Amino acid sequence: MKKMMGILSVATILFLTGCTDKKDNDVSNTKIEQKEVFTWKLATTWGKTVVPLVSAPIEMAKLVEKMSNGRLLIRVDASNKHKAPLGILDMVKGGQYEMGHSGSYYWKGKDINTLPFTTMPFGMTTPEQYAWFYRGGGLELMLKVYDKHNVLSFPGGNTGVQMGGWFKKEIKTVSDLQGLKMRIPGFAGEIMAKLGVAVTNMAPGELYTSLERGTLDALEWVGPGMDIKMGFHKVAPYYYTGWHEPASEMQFLVNKKKFNKLPKDLQEILLVGMRVSAYDMYIQNYDMSATAWAKIKTDYPNIKVKTFPKEVMDVMKKTNKELRTEVAKKSDLLKEILDSQDAYQKKAREWTKMSDFLYLKDNL
Ligand code: CA
Repeated sequence: MKKMMGILSVATILFLTGCTDKKDNDVSNTKIEQKEVFTWKLATTWGKTVVPLVSAPIEMAKLVEKMSNGRLLIRVDASNKHKAPLGILDMVKGGQYEMGHSGSYYWKGKDINTLPFTTMPFGMTTPEQYAWFYRGGGLELMLKVYDKHNVLSFPGGNTGVQMGGWFKKEIKTVSDLQGLKMRIPGFAGEIMAKLGVAVTNMAPGELYTSLERGTLDALEWVGPGMDIKMGFHKVAPYYYTGWHEPASEMQFLVNKKKFNKLPKDLQEILLVGMRVSAYDMYIQNYDMSATAWAKIKTDYPNIKVKTFPKEVMDVMKKTNKELRTEVAKKSDLLKEILDSQDAYQKKAREWTKMSDFLYLKDNL
């Protein structure tokens, strides 16, 4: 009985032994208050106004608080608080924060295996990639990669197809990319570097000033819903359609030791909270971009919407293929992940062609 007392909560034991007042055997606050409260902190890459990326962790924390009846409280610290927007993985790994919210491809310099879990150039679309994560072995592979860092990683909200970025000058040929200073993260950055672009990644808060002052000639951020609020169109009017981030998935990070210390029901509540808030971020971003796009021609007539010329796209595709083969040689696990993504994309794309593609082709 003593051992059992250690495992079961006081409220459960009272209920099982019939020691509770029968008039009060619903989920009473008295019983809940007897349980342990966990107070956690989450660090996110995003500033507090970077909606909807920052909305995912904020909504997750609210949901978890409600679902747990106040037993799991998560304080969300935006980048202006912790001052380390690109240090989230380290802070969660080190235990300063129990959780994080960021993008997996930001850690490619620390661990190359983390690269493919955000999105890959010319890769899967959002529904294809979610199917891969949840039904095609993607989540298992992501957990395997982060296990070595003693961290758990889960999908944290998707942006859908991102725009190709803002450029001060029109890109007519591949040679126009030569020497261009551009902010572009992930594998797309590697492709651009190969084509002669001086590639950097920098925290979101520094983007506008860098573009305005000429530290950057071009940058990519997300899509119209988020980009226009940043004001990039004022200094770089050429707005290119996307190729490089077809389905950028954010990520939740959880310190594994801290997760394992949570009771099972709180673990489930946390998993559900992350999954629901991730999906809600996807919806919110879609709505924001659709709303912004509807006004783009009337409210921002100086924006010149462009698609990269076929010649440029062909070179990007070719370079992507070559670099994928090259990078896969760096680690067996990375090769396993890329092969898994390729195989899933091949399978899912046939269905995408039959469903969304044919439907849209005849209904535009
Ligand atoms: Ca981006």
